[in-house]
Amino acid sequence: MPIKDCLFCKIIDGKVPCNKVYENEKIFAFNDINPVAKKHILIIPKRHIENIGQTKNLEIFGELLISTDIIAKKLGILDSGYRIIINKGKDSGQIIDHIHLHLIGGETLGLLN
Ligand code: 5GP
Ligand code: ZN
Repeated sequence: MPIKDCLFCKIIDGKVPCNKVYENEKIFAFNDINPVAKKHILIIPKRHIENIGQTKNLEIFGELLISTDIIAKKLGILDSGYRIIINKGKDSGQIIDHIHLHLIGGETLGLLN
């Protein structure tokens, strides 16, 4: 069920434009508007889930994680590698309350913070 005021639900519904990279029945992936690396994709479930603590649905987590290699291959960075980040809560800097994986790569990345 889409949440009326959720930006990412609006993106899934096509009410807010995005550059789509990949989609299947359960998930949707698009370019981050403010990339922190040469490749920066956001991968989200089509079902609204606020953050990583809000579901025990293993299928959703599986779909999100299985999609990363598929998307990396589409981006041409499967061999060079990539990083996945999930933010939760204030200290992480999470600004959108619809769970999302950041997939970043396309260049050598800095150290984890
Ligand atoms: P968070 O900090 O919540 O983990 O990450 C949210 C991400 O959403 C940020 O990297 C930000 O650049 C991205 N973002 C925010 N608004 C938009 C938008 O309207 N379109 C797209 N494509 N990305 C957005
Ligand atoms: Zn949402």
